Amino acid sequence: MKLDVAIIGAGITGSALAYYLSKRGIKNIAVFEKQYVCSGSTGRCGGGIRQQWATPGNCRLAYRSVKHFEKLEQELGYPTEYYQGGYLLLAFTEEEKKQFEKNVLMQQKAGVPVRLISQSEIKKMFPYIKTDDVKIGTHCQTDGHANPMLVTQAYAEAAKKNGVKFHLFTEIKKIERRGEQITSISTETGDKFEVGVFFNAAGGYSADVAAMAGLEIPTRPQRHEILVTEPLKKFLDPLVISFHHHIYFRQTMHGSLVMGWGDDNEPYSHNTESSLEFLKVMSRQITKLVPAMKSVKIIRQWAGLYNMTPDAQPILGRMPGLSNYYQAVGYSGHGFMIAPAVTELMAELIDTGKTSIDISELTIDRFKGNQSFTLEKSVV
Ligand SMILES: Cc1cc2nc3c(=O)[nH]c(=O)nc-3n(C[C@H](O)[C@H](O)[C@H](O)COP(=O)(O)OP(=O)(O)OC[C@H]3O[C@@H](n4cnc5c(N)ncnc54)[C@H](O)[C@@H]3O)c2cc1C
Repeated sequence: MKLDVAIIGAGITGSALAYYLSKRGIKNIAVFEKQYVCSGSTGRCGGGIRQQWATPGNCRLAYRSVKHFEKLEQELGYPTEYYQGGYLLLAFTEEEKKQFEKNVLMQQKAGVPVRLISQSEIKKMFPYIKTDDVKIGTHCQTDGHANPMLVTQAYAEAAKKNGVKFHLFTEIKKIERRGEQITSISTETGDKFEVGVFFNAAGGYSADVAAMAGLEIPTRPQRHEILVTEPLKKFLDPLVISFHHHIYFRQTMHGSLVMGWGDDNEPYSHNTESSLEFLKVMSRQITKLVPAMKSVKIIRQWAGLYNMTPDAQPILGRMPGLSNYYQAVGYSGHGFMIAPAVTELMAELIDTGKTSIDISELTIDRFKGNQSFTLEKSVV
């Protein structure tokens, strides 16, 4: 059987890409997913959507994605729990303060309605946060969050309506190549599909999928843990980040708090087990920032994979030297929020050979030889 486009992975990337390709009238698209829609990182993520980044590439993609999120429920006819409650970023050191001041200028230039916010204003606006050691903050009201499962289902259902076939519980085990082309993919049960375009949207398994095609890409999986508390009366509008404490937290529509901690020393692996250590550190860090959290009960914890790159920015576009291999991988912990813009651009690229905004600095070419690259510093 011949497919015009074969997408590996049904997270936000694979599902949204399938939708945007089908919206352009491209037919004969199939998504292959080894488990179910959202079983990878997307279904495990915090659902945060922010435009406050330290690199212009991430900033532009997030800004463009927000425009998608704002109209997604209407466009796809599906609830998403999208809420623009803002993002509050807190600086605790002079170095962070300087970086925030620099970031805000760049973000404002990219059109993001972000502003610096003083310690006294933070105290007034968000009285539950302990501000004694806060130097400064940044706040953007059009940032927010959504339910990652609902958003992804929304894209997947819309793609199905447009004729896309989802092969769930179907792992791709073999990829065949002839010269500069991917020619076919085979499933674990031996079904073989010839492919026109091949797309790697395999998240934490992106390097493994690339390796099946004989390619080495610099993406590495890294466990990140997260938890949810009992529901509380609504008190928290923004998603709050402290890079200094390596934590983020937000309140869901149902009142529960979702919070995560990033461990710099976590080794690269596919491990998604939960740990007691996480509960200890997370509890310690959150109560430093929000002392009232001391008596709140934790309901559930889980873990997922960040797909890291050396500069913590995604790798997008066509693989040099191959005519029909494309990828959107290595989001480094912020793929949910930028995927709408990324996948719309990838659909443009596949359909027309070009993108309406320049993404050349995010292709894999930046890692060629000894070139220098810019590290995205605003990852938590
Ligand atoms: C704890 C945590 C919190 C996060 N918080 C945020 C956040 O607040 N905001 C944000 O923007 N991002 C966040 N992220 C990052 C975000 O989850 C990811 O960047 C994003 O979900 C990546 O989506 P994806 O579709 O590319 O990958 P995934 O959702 O991982 O999907 C890839 C899919 O490919 C499938 N697959 C892999 N190999 C094969 C194969 N051989 N055959 C068939 N199928 C295969 C997998 O089963 C998987 O379902 C967080 C991540 C974690 C772990």
